Amino acid sequence: MNIALYPGSFDPITNGHLDILQRARKLFDQVIVAVAENAEKDPTFSLEERKRLVEENVTHFDNVSVESFNCLLVDHAQKKNAVALVRGLRAVSDFEYEFQMAQMNRHLDPKIETVFLMPNEKYFFTSSHLLKLVNRYGGEIDELIPANALHALRSRFAKKSVSEG
Ligand code: ADP
Repeated sequence: MNIALYPGSFDPITNGHLDILQRARKLFDQVIVAVAENAEKDPTFSLEERKRLVEENVTHFDNVSVESFNCLLVDHAQKKNAVALVRGLRAVSDFEYEFQMAQMNRHLDPKIETVFLMPNEKYFFTSSHLLKLVNRYGGEIDELIPANALHALRSRFAKKSVSEG
């Protein structure tokens, strides 16, 4: 059985993440979405929230599971017997960072391949960071993010506005 790990911060999940996941689950027998605990110093959502927002979107995928991890990625991949790490590539800007990470992970465990997948072009410019920014200033992002994550963002933003105001 070919198992792949799809790691990331998912802060929060977007349709870009889901697009990559759909492609990955056709290529591998099992895909484990691995939500990173320490991916960012100050994530908008807690690890539990980020994991739940992913879980609620993958219940109908029979070969996808969701976990969190708080260790070296390759160590987690080894523990899960994963043969590959799945990463998404959007614009050229992703390349430099992803290239470094892939090389480092190969150095740490040459048996685990990093596989890059491209999303549908409508998600080329979708990132959790950008969506949070646009949402904060009232921009329309409905087509780029699943409903539960949009709802979570809106209530988080509403709370902030109240406390700021
Ligand atoms: P990280 O902090 O590890 O980059 P992210 O949650 O931002 O975590 O992203 C996880 C993975 O999903 C990364 O490989 C990222 O490039 C990919 N990804 C995120 N958004 C998109 C998108 N719109 N299209 C394709 N890949 C994406």
